[in-house]
Parts: sequence; C-alpha cells; structure tokens
Amino acid sequence: MGLKFFNTLSRSVQEFAPLDPTGKKAGMYCCGPTVYDFAHIGNWRTFVFGDLVRRMLEFKGYVVTHVMNITDVEDKIIKRVRETKTSLRDFTGKYEAAFLEDLRTLNCKEPHQTPRATEHIPEIIALIEKLLARGVAYRANDGSVYFSIEKYRGCGCNYGQLVKLNFDEMRAGERVASDEYEKESLADFALWKARSPEDGDVFWKSETLGEGRPGWHIECSAMSMKALGETFDLHLGGEDLKFPHHEDEIAQSEGATGKPFVKYWLHGAHLLVEGKKMSKSLGNFFTLRDLLAKGSSGREIRYLLLTAHYRETFNFTLDGLQGARTALARIDECVGKLRELGGVQSRMRDCSGDTLKRELQRAGSETGAPADLATNFTAALDDDLNISGAWGVVFEWVRETNRRLAENSLSVAEAASALAAWERIDSVLGIGAKVQSEEAPAEIVALLEERQAARKAKDFKRSDAIRDELKAKGWVIEDSPKGPKLKKI
Ligand code: AMP
Ligand code: ZN
Repeated sequence: MGLKFFNTLSRSVQEFAPLDPTGKKAGMYCCGPTVYDFAHIGNWRTFVFGDLVRRMLEFKGYVVTHVMNITDVEDKIIKRVRETKTSLRDFTGKYEAAFLEDLRTLNCKEPHQTPRATEHIPEIIALIEKLLARGVAYRANDGSVYFSIEKYRGCGCNYGQLVKLNFDEMRAGERVASDEYEKESLADFALWKARSPEDGDVFWKSETLGEGRPGWHIECSAMSMKALGETFDLHLGGEDLKFPHHEDEIAQSEGATGKPFVKYWLHGAHLLVEGKKMSKSLGNFFTLRDLLAKGSSGREIRYLLLTAHYRETFNFTLDGLQGARTALARIDECVGKLRELGGVQSRMRDCSGDTLKRELQRAGSETGAPADLATNFTAALDDDLNISGAWGVVFEWVRETNRRLAENSLSVAEAASALAAWERIDSVLGIGAKVQSEEAPAEIVALLEERQAARKAKDFKRSDAIRDELKAKGWVIEDSPKGPKLKKI
C-alpha cells in the first residue's frame, strides 16, 4: 500500500506520489525555528512530526532531501537584539546551537540543509525584484516593498489556497508591516522593510530596494526554492503557520515563477500543556531543557510527542512523561531479553552480512511474527501516519514476544529475526535502545546515540570521530551484551 497524507491544499487524504519522474526522490521543506529563544516543547512536537515524516519516507525507500531553514532575522529577533544590546549573529548563534543540540537530544535526524535567512539576502532581493517586475509588488512611501494581493488576484492567481478568506472585508491598499498577523488583518504584507531606527545595525543595502531587511515570509520562499527547486514535494509546519506564513509563501513563490509551489502541505496540530496554551505566567511553559532538568530523557520526551496523531491537538502532561517511561521500559525489557537470548547481540555483531542474512531468512521462515510486525506497522503509518495504530502493533508484538520468551519457545534465530524487525521499524520511530548510562549528561548521551546511529548507517568515519570526541570530553564507550555503556575516564 502506498503512503498517504492529509494534504491541507486539497483538504483530503492523498497518496504520496513524488514529482521526481523516477519516483525515487522526495524534497521536503520544514519551516525551522525562529532563533530568538530556546525552542519550547510545542515547537518540538512540530519538529518531531517533521522527523517522523522524513523517516517514514526513507523507510518507504525514497531518497529524501530534507531542508529546514533557520529564521535568524525577523521582528521578534530584532526586538531582542535591541533589548540585549548584542550583535545579530552573537544573539541568534547561541539559540541556533541550542536548537541543533536539542534536535540531537530528541534523536531527530539532522536535516540535509539548514539554510540561514541572513545568508540568503541576495536570493531574497532577487525574488522581490521579480515580484516587482511582474507587477504584484509595489513600493510604499517609506521605501518598503509590499505584496499586492489585489494585483496578484487580478492575474488570476488564487490567494487563500490553504485557508478560506473573506475578501469582502479587505480594503484595497491596506497594509500590514509586522511578520505575524491574524486572518482579520488580511492585507498586503511586507516583502522588504525599509531601514528604521529601531532596527539598529540590522539592515542590508540593495541597489534596487535601498537599505532594509526582508520580511519573514519571503525568507522561506527564497530558501526553499533555492534548495529544492521552484516546485517541490512537501512543505511542513505547525497549524498556526497556515495563515499568513504559508499562504504568503505560496503567493510570493507562485507570483514570481507562475508555477505551482508545493504539491503536499502537511500541518501539525498544536500542543497544549495540562490542557492549556503554554504561557510563562501560567507556569506551564517548558523548553526541552526544562524537562531534561526535571529528570526526563530526550528519549522519553520523543516517545511522548510521538504518541498522538499529528493532526490532533496533544495534551502534554508531566504524568504523561511518567507513562512514557513505563512504556519504554516495557519495550526495553523485551528487546533486552531478545538481545540476551543466546548472545544474539554479540553474534549479530560478529556475523558477516551474509551469515546474518542467512540466519534471519531461516528465522523468518520459522515464524511469521516479525513479518507481521513490519507489515502491520507499515500499514498503520501508511494511513496518514496513524501512529496510535502503529504503537498498538508494537505493544501487541511486545506482549506476544514476552509470552514466547516466558515459555522458552523462541529460538536464537527467531530472536535475531524479531530483533532485526524491531530495528527496522525503529528506524521510523527513532526510539532506539536504552542507553545504560543514566549518570552521563544529556550532551554525552546524545553523542553516544549519534554514534549508534552512525554505526547503524555504517558511517564508521563519523562513529570513530564521535568516539574520539567523547574521549576528549572524558568518556569512553564500552560495548556490552546489553548494549553500549558510557564510562568516565
Ligand atoms: P517558531 O520558532 O515560532 O517559528 O515555531 C517553530 C514551529 O513550531 C512552527 O512550525 C510552529 O508552527 C510550531 N509551533 C509553535 N507553537 C506550537 C505549539 N504550541 N504546538 C505545536 N507546534 C507549535
Ligand atoms: Zn517558513
């Protein structure tokens, strides 16, 4: 069965068919973080959702190009730069590094490209010039450049592809300068904001546009099309980005190229904390680091974020984290026993590829269980990422495997086969094996997990480099039948 997603553009569940004529490659752009603070747990729900989509596409055999921009210049950032009296790069650099570190802690695959807006100013200017030349953008008295919704619609283009808009209440020529606005303020939006005293040092010089800085929406149009072409397969983000951000991205891109911008738009629903919108005043605002400091692991948080369907609002609770720990312990115990059975793990490591393949084939013919695991798991996720169904399959498999382990009816070969099936589906879930090193700091555990992933991907150069990095930080890895352990030098 093919992989299906709910496409916000068509408002329906559609089978994924990439634009690539060979049907193999898929281009995917996820709107990345605005680096003005540490990403909160709601942001992480959306980024983990993006990671799940990428992993599922790869599991289905697509060669994915995953692009996630870093928004390192926009209104909120400029305000903070002004308040903290730092330089733009110093300010955003800190949060960008923290974001990439958190990404590893949650075992999200690093995107293939993470372009920064500030490094794409020429591309952004060129795109604005194109929109001016096509007559769908205009210069305001202060030198700023705006996108004209009226002119765009006048060319037969459709503004309002992702959300229903009421144009009757729109007044011609009304403009909105800020990057974030509500549907009610449906108005021409800024592409280039003329330099103002509040911007301080944050401006660029353009011969055609004058001194200024880009609007937020145009950044994503310029970076996504540069990385993936004028038309690409998938564009993702949280549901709050549908309007105005994504609607404006479509208008700018299609207004400049005359071609369809994106084939599939996927939006993740929001996360609430203890039933409420996160806010600092309610004391329910958590960054990933807050939760790690409370004793949770990246793995538990990832698991919890992956328990709900991406299109359903998810209520995050601290009790839920406790539940995640229990659920993972059940999986770990089962997988641990499979590994121990007859020293499967060491045999698997020692086996040459061919020996292992033969052993697994033999085991596969002896039991149907692992094949069912992969088949049922895939069927659930194929259906618009039905993650609850997928977890149901996993826990049914854990129950059945535990039963067979308890009655001693599982052969070594069957255990190896079951383990291989688990590892295959875990390439999508990214839960991995429990790292036996509770006392190591999160950064060290993240490095170990990265090394395991590199080894799995046979990237031994990277895995050796990580081992050296760990050594330099005072940690050695000891491989044991129960998995790798970290030991302080
Ligand atoms: P930002 O850094 O504000 O640009 O947001 C990064 C991503 O997080 C975007 O895709 C947002 O849609 C998403 N996001 C923001 N708040 C939440 C939330 N409470 N739950 C889920 N996703 C969110
Ligand atoms: Zn974006």
